[in-house]
Amino acid sequence: MSVERIPSTPQTSLPPLPWRPAPFVGLSLILHTLVLIGVFAEPQHWRIWLAIFIGNHVCICAAVLLPRNHWIGANLTRLPQAAIARGEIALTLDDGPDPAVTPQVLDLLDRHQAKASFFCIGARARAHPELVREIIARGHSIENHSLRHDKTFAFRGWRWTDLEVKHSQSLLTEISGQRPQFFRAPAGFRNPLLDPILARAGLHYASWTRRGFDSVRGEPEAVLRRLRRKLAPGDILLMHDGHPAKTAAGVPVILAVLPRLLDEIAARGWRVVSLREAMRA
Ligand SMILES: [Zn+2]
Repeated sequence: MSVERIPSTPQTSLPPLPWRPAPFVGLSLILHTLVLIGVFAEPQHWRIWLAIFIGNHVCICAAVLLPRNHWIGANLTRLPQAAIARGEIALTLDDGPDPAVTPQVLDLLDRHQAKASFFCIGARARAHPELVREIIARGHSIENHSLRHDKTFAFRGWRWTDLEVKHSQSLLTEISGQRPQFFRAPAGFRNPLLDPILARAGLHYASWTRRGFDSVRGEPEAVLRRLRRKLAPGDILLMHDGHPAKTAAGVPVILAVLPRLLDEIAARGWRVVSLREAMRA
């Protein structure tokens, strides 16, 4: 790993967002109340109440399972106009830090003078604190990707979800010396109760414009093709330095794809930045 220290890039500190229920959440609460009153007041119409209840929950499931939707709260899927005007593309890297992959990714980013947002898993950061500090020392930022990356994250209750976010937030803040400003749910499956929890923790929710599925696909060409499709300033790209799929030769896909992607972006005259850098005015 290189010991060279890279000067930090201009970053912004986003103001906390007060929580207001999104219209979809408000409507869902009204429907739940309506069903509850209806069941007691007119139980003979139970089929209607059941249909409303099921319909509402089908919509909630869709909101959870479609990572880029805005139904259950604010969701950063593209960069603001100022970043587009500057020709910026944000690179976000999930599921690290990984001692076998993250140092190589950091070296690649240095060689291309690119910056990234590392959405770290709290427990992995606790196991590899030196990597977290190295990420910061190289001028990148650390963001919150939950404490354990639990597959059931989207379907847990309030208290469990609150602890999962808060514990990860305190761990990452303590290790990195910087407070994460963005949160991304495991696999992008967002718990419907998440928004007020993020508001209290001063976190903003971020997903992506496009992803290469580099944690499941081992073919670099296929991953690169997905990331390059309609690539333009303002995009938020998602790749994985943790849990990467491997190529047929056993190489983590991100290491095969990232140099080509960064070369192409540079050739078009665009810049790869962290989310924090992109969000400045
Ligand atoms: Zn993840």
